[in-house]
Amino acid sequence: MTLLTLDDVSFGYTASPVVKDVSLTVDAGEYVGLIGPNGSGKSTLLRLCLGLHTPDAGRIELFGHPADEFVDRERVGYVAQDVTENTKQMPITVAEVVLMGRFPHTGFGRVGKRDRELTQQALETVGIDHLADRRITKLSGGQRQRAYIARALAGEADLLVLDEPTVGVDAESVDAFFELLAGLNADGMTVLLVEHDIGAVLEHADRVVCLNRELYFDGSPTEFADSDALDRAYGTNVHRGERVEPR
Ligand code: ADP
Ligand code: MG
Repeated sequence: MTLLTLDDVSFGYTASPVVKDVSLTVDAGEYVGLIGPNGSGKSTLLRLCLGLHTPDAGRIELFGHPADEFVDRERVGYVAQDVTENTKQMPITVAEVVLMGRFPHTGFGRVGKRDRELTQQALETVGIDHLADRRITKLSGGQRQRAYIARALAGEADLLVLDEPTVGVDAESVDAFFELLAGLNADGMTVLLVEHDIGAVLEHADRVVCLNRELYFDGSPTEFADSDALDRAYGTNVHRGERVEPR
């Protein structure tokens, strides 16, 4: 089943396009890693996929519906880049954030036993049930990302969209974080991940999409490592240290 389709999509904030003629599909169960240099349009592309921008040209479908008209928001769990900014002022607990994932199901009405059970289960799955009563603002970056993933799980999302979730997370927690994503994917969750660490994408994702406004590559990590897509997409900006073979 195809969850997400982009067909010849272009978009710009001004006259010059930030996303140009991009076509790709994401099928249920896939783990897609989206890479590209800074400013290459990765976050914009994710927001387009979520219907938060409308393409200037082309077509985007989420679960078979135009993305910008899609209403079953809870089917997509979106962990935005730097979620810290959004939650700095929020005096709510981790459990409350995760329970918010249930709101589309409860119609913002009364929270029931099943809602609390799914919340507890999601907290356990991401390994932060011991932090349930802590303020979301008191978590480390990695713990907070887990809380947002738990919110998506509690909402029974079918697609997890993550924008550079490991920025500002310490190395040990990053490893554990990729283990969590791998486990969720093994259990059937479709993952679309933007990640600056190319090595991590080659190691963990089963498909690499490389973008610099235009699409430079879409295929397996092995094919990517054998191709010249990295040099072409990153040009002279590429740091040699980022050139990592699949492990
Ligand atoms: P990436 O996530 O790959 O770093 P972005 O999608 O954030 O790239 O940005 C792509 C380009 O679009 C950049 O040149 C950026 O400055 C510009 N841009 C991003 N967001 C906005 C916005 N809200 N308004 C105007 N320009 C933007
Ligand atoms: Mg970005």
